[in-house]
Amino acid sequence: MTQFRVVDLKQFQYCPRLIYFHHCLPHIRPVTKKMAHGIEMQQAAMRNEARRSLKPYGLTHGERLYNVVLESTELGLRGKIELVIETNDNLRQTPELIPVDFKNSRRGKPDKHLKLQLTAYALMLEENKQLLVKRGFLYYIPLRRAVEVPINTRLKANLRKSVEAMRKIVAAEWMPSPTAQRGKCADCEFRRFCNDI
Ligand code: SF4
Repeated sequence: MTQFRVVDLKQFQYCPRLIYFHHCLPHIRPVTKKMAHGIEMQQAAMRNEARRSLKPYGLTHGERLYNVVLESTELGLRGKIELVIETNDNLRQTPELIPVDFKNSRRGKPDKHLKLQLTAYALMLEENKQLLVKRGFLYYIPLRRAVEVPINTRLKANLRKSVEAMRKIVAAEWMPSPTAQRGKCADCEFRRFCNDI
């Protein structure tokens, strides 16, 4: 069974063809200046995170766990969660694990692909830590704002459906049609490999 990275889910939502490029033509690995800049911004945000309180997450207590590496045998996924907050608030009956994903974006609105990525982290935490994960956060670096995302059954079902569709692309080595939202192609690292756009 192909093991996907959590980031593949985000790519699949952006354009299903990206899964074909990443898994059926793995020797192609373009890195744009924008991607390299995004990685630098995320690393800087992580360094700053350690100095901040948990107020952006509406929490007073909690332990930060950085770069948590997880695998899900059930979903066939692997990934690294940049931050997991483990609450130790005695008022709660059970501790809570909250995944946080950092985004170098000014949108401040959780798009579907980001919610799915967070849902994948939540399910991986549940499988590995045997604890229900009820919510996660997207932290928008330029806005310095954390946006809560409830992890609901609809997101979990969408996630499983997406993984299944990704698996079909790889098994058949099938290159899907280009995205209908051609504006996305302007920012895509694989643009020069798509001769039909
Ligand atoms: S250039 Fe456009 S169609 Fe091609 S992979 Fe990127 S987003 Fe998809």
